[in-house]
Amino acid sequence: MKEAVLIINSGSSSLKFAVLSHAGEKLVMQGVADRLNSNQAEITINYAQTSKKAALVDGSHQAALIQIKQWLEQKPDILNSLTGVGHRIVHGGERFTDSALIDEQAIQQIKACIPLAPLHNPAGLKGIEACFSLFGHLPQVAVFDTSFHQTLSNVEYLYPIPIRYYRDHGLRKYGFHGTSFRYISRKLTQLEPESTNSGVVVAHLGNGASTCAIFNGQSVDTSMGLTPLEGMMMGTRSGSVDPTLVAAIAQRDQLNTDDALTVLSKESGLLGISELSNDCRTLEEAMNAGDERAKLALDMFCTRAAKNIVSVATSLTTLSHLVFTGGIGENSNYVRQNIVQNLSILGIQLDTKENIKCPRGQTHLISPAQQRTKVWVIPTNEELMIALDTIKLIRQPENVV
Ligand code: ADP
Repeated sequence: MKEAVLIINSGSSSLKFAVLSHAGEKLVMQGVADRLNSNQAEITINYAQTSKKAALVDGSHQAALIQIKQWLEQKPDILNSLTGVGHRIVHGGERFTDSALIDEQAIQQIKACIPLAPLHNPAGLKGIEACFSLFGHLPQVAVFDTSFHQTLSNVEYLYPIPIRYYRDHGLRKYGFHGTSFRYISRKLTQLEPESTNSGVVVAHLGNGASTCAIFNGQSVDTSMGLTPLEGMMMGTRSGSVDPTLVAAIAQRDQLNTDDALTVLSKESGLLGISELSNDCRTLEEAMNAGDERAKLALDMFCTRAAKNIVSVATSLTTLSHLVFTGGIGENSNYVRQNIVQNLSILGIQLDTKENIKCPRGQTHLISPAQQRTKVWVIPTNEELMIALDTIKLIRQPENVV
């Protein structure tokens, strides 16, 4: 096996992992440790068409990684081919404009970003620390959700609030889903080399959802902000709303600010409107069975997605490519059709048949031939980007230890 990389995505209560070989092209194994820090923690490892589940008695991030290492020790060909570990880290603040080899200084800088991502960065650091103790011989690389958006101009990233909040505390738009947007931009350049000289908008629609305008391979605007709560309506997030709603919700329900924000981030969006589910597939099934609130939730999602697409597109001079990606963007022809219907002001249409027949997991053009804006479905692959960044950074001569 050639050039395998262990990919770690360490969240507050879950740790997703994968081994990719052949410079990121081949998925060897993958899995998830769920419900960490509870007595119901368990780990699932998928390898060669089999799936094995095991309880994690000590439900810590370290315990999950010990299980992964023990599994790898039973597969020495995979273990011995590992060349590095790539970590998804949510927030790199303004310190990280690109992925970085992890050394003591990088760890301190990731720690310094904790106030911007108090739940996510500590979880990422737990994954890094556990990997240093278990795979200390392997170089490690951090790949940030935010770094792709560090190319935004200050006109885009500043909030119109007293500028001292930015100057003294770094309060600004950072944006997320950067690894996905970077993958899509790269893939589109392979398909259509001219796309680097024209405007591209990507709608990453999953449980979390955001849009990004890209020119010349660089992010020029994005819908998420200081946190992933800004922008589009999502599975459980409201997206952008009148900020005074935070005080109004706190007052009505006698909550503090943090708890009022939890209503907007965990109880709103598709779930809040449908009172049924945050899951698009479940809502489509309910809508098709006549549930009007499921339809209302989905229609609100689509209208707001269209508004966000137009909003980020204003930072471009042309819109030559619109790309749908993420679990919903890749799989829901209803959502794609509905969003594009809301974009008729831009003269964008879909080829209805191509939209419906779009094969699962494949890149597909879903707009009519000759239309000025090409509309695509491109499956994202954040793991591949993490593997490629890891390999690139550990190959650089100055980084060879
Ligand atoms: P996350 O942000 O958690 O990574 P994903 O990108 O995996 O989310 O997307 C999850 C969403 O994709 C869910 O709302 C799910 O219902 C939706 N989805 C997955 N497959 C389909 C499908 N066939 N039709 C409609 N929605 C789907």
